Amino acid sequence: MIRSIRSDEYDRVGALCVDAYLRAEITRAGEPYAAFLADTASRATDPTAEVLVAEHDGHLTGTVTICPYGSDLTKVCLPGEMEFRALAVAPEAQGGGIAADLIWACVDWSREHEVDTVVACVTEKNTSGHKLYQKLGFTRQPDRDWVAPDGTTLQTYTQSVEVRRFCGRCGKQVSVGDHTGCRGALELEPPRYCADCRRRMVVQIVPTGWRARCVKHGELAG
Ligand SMILES: [Zn+2]
Ligand SMILES: [Zn+2]
Repeated sequence: MIRSIRSDEYDRVGALCVDAYLRAEITRAGEPYAAFLADTASRATDPTAEVLVAEHDGHLTGTVTICPYGSDLTKVCLPGEMEFRALAVAPEAQGGGIAADLIWACVDWSREHEVDTVVACVTEKNTSGHKLYQKLGFTRQPDRDWVAPDGTTLQTYTQSVEVRRFCGRCGKQVSVGDHTGCRGALELEPPRYCADCRRRMVVQIVPTGWRARCVKHGELAG
């Protein structure tokens, strides 16, 4: 489950972040970046940002901070964009797709807030970060790289929020593959999948046509 952080979790989430970044050798204890990661309370109480956590079986397994354009925490974000920061997965929970889930939660948040583009910044030594963004279809934007005061270059990736739209007929991402046939079929029949979350729709045939309902995103009619 991905949800907003609670105020009694700031210290635990800070420790999780620092632990993940130290083990990945992205920062070292005592560096300003480690202090930034540890200080989850400041990020969570910043009115310009929002901290999410991943929870599995009652354990906190990951976190990300959502920083829309205008937030004090952004580095390279432009109008209409959102930059996420302090993405971390607890070392014992890595490899389970939690980082991707947190990124998709950022994309979903962006759509709900009418933000078009999600921006990720990553250091050169964060090889797992580069691999993850490439796997999720982010586009590298070298002209938007940002050099921190300590000389570290943050490399920039962007992803359009549209990538998270799913084909109602086949359930695959609309940005991948050819859905011409699917679009034709959808003119004649109800969608099988929710375009927002890929859940199976509950379809009812009614005298006027059909109704298709996603448990999370509501009803469509045709
Ligand atoms: Zn399709
Ligand atoms: Zn849905």
